Amino acid sequence: MTWRVFIFSFSQAMGLLLGWWYAGAWGAALGGAFAGWCWFASDLWRGARVLRWFRSGELDAAPQDMHGLWGLAVDRVRRLLRIQQQQVQEYQRRLDDVFAALQASPNGLVLLDSQGHIEWCNKTACGHFGFDAERDQMQSLGNLVRDPDFTAYYNGKDYSHDVVLQGRLSTPARPVRLSVQIYPHGQGRKLMISRDITALEQAEAMRRDFVANVSHEIRTPLTVLAGFVETLQTLQLTAEEQTRYLALMAQQSARMQSVVQGLLTLSRLEESPRPGMGGWVSLQHLLEHCADEGRALSQLLTRHQARHHLMIFPLPAPPEGMGEIAGIQTELQSALSNLISNAVRYTPASGTIEVSWRWQDDGGAVFAVRDTGPGIDAVHIPRLTERFYRVDRSRSRETGGTGLGLAIVKHVLQRHDATLHIQSTLGQGSTFSVHFPASRVRAPVGLPHAATLVSGS
Ligand code: ADP
Repeated sequence: MTWRVFIFSFSQAMGLLLGWWYAGAWGAALGGAFAGWCWFASDLWRGARVLRWFRSGELDAAPQDMHGLWGLAVDRVRRLLRIQQQQVQEYQRRLDDVFAALQASPNGLVLLDSQGHIEWCNKTACGHFGFDAERDQMQSLGNLVRDPDFTAYYNGKDYSHDVVLQGRLSTPARPVRLSVQIYPHGQGRKLMISRDITALEQAEAMRRDFVANVSHEIRTPLTVLAGFVETLQTLQLTAEEQTRYLALMAQQSARMQSVVQGLLTLSRLEESPRPGMGGWVSLQHLLEHCADEGRALSQLLTRHQARHHLMIFPLPAPPEGMGEIAGIQTELQSALSNLISNAVRYTPASGTIEVSWRWQDDGGAVFAVRDTGPGIDAVHIPRLTERFYRVDRSRSRETGGTGLGLAIVKHVLQRHDATLHIQSTLGQGSTFSVHFPASRVRAPVGLPHAATLVSGS
């Protein structure tokens, strides 16, 4: 300000002096007036430059070489603009972070304005409803989601609960279920959240089925047992009849015991930690055990028949040994034996059961049990490892099955990073093969990969 007064006074003084020197008193008056006008014009010009800059709003277009009051104003405004610009950038960065987080959400998110138009939606929502984030921006939600249940929910305006819809990609074979809920906020705006609850609903259905199956499996032998107890209590039976009834009762209680035992095994498998890579189990021991159990079961089941199973095992072991599997001996034993016992139980006495162990090129190995039994219809194969799922209920019961065997096998194999593959042709037989990854198996030293250790019994 002082500088401004100084410059004005100085230019006035110079005008007066020059005018006085040139034309006396009149000259001084004209010189002073001229100097005043010049100062005013230059001030006006500088003010106009500053105004033009204000209008442009460009921080970098600030007029340079401004001194005095206008220079000060330019500096102050430039500093304010810079602070404001930094704040805007910071807000923008935070907003981008928030949108990136919303984009990464596993739930579908749709922001709606007060008219129900889509302002923004994330990728999950696009997948759930088939939206195109750019094309459908500001489109009316009601026009895009046509499900009658959703329309009733949307128009009903009671958003205290969710509505469950079929997903866009839902098919009868692969149903997709979505839980959709709207959350009003602000001035009539809404947030819509969609969640894929297919797995949840399937788990709930499986839990319901499981409880129903367990009840059924336990109740049936219990009813039979209760019936026999009542008969024994009320009827005068001969010693022979009593012995027969007691044998049947023992059979039923053994069946209940097997079911409970199977369930306990499954829950123990689910709860215990995964087997580490520290314990190596001898493959030869495993297979010898499997062979002994398989042969014993076959003899028991075919003891009254003229013919017996032809059983082929990869034994005796070659001199270099058979290799090892990293895992828990008892679990591996029960899983591999289970596949052999199934083959024995479901294959008629005249059939063949062949067990093999093959090393793979990638260092992994395949344990396979092939039988010439009745085979399994393809529709049943994906469900065989479900708890209590049986193709032939009566055959399973006759041979002491619980419907839990393959569920236990699957669990044990998963824990050992192995996978179960089932191939079967109705009327021709089945092959159950277990694929062990290279990390879980150790071939004997000197054994070429892809060598087959199968040999006749
Ligand atoms: P189960 O105790 O009834 O044998 P599993 O879980 O071991 O129960 O097997 C499930 C079903 O798979 C069996 O009930 C049977 O119908 C079918 N299955 C399993 N193994 C064979 C096989 N080798 N040949 C034919 N069917 C089989």
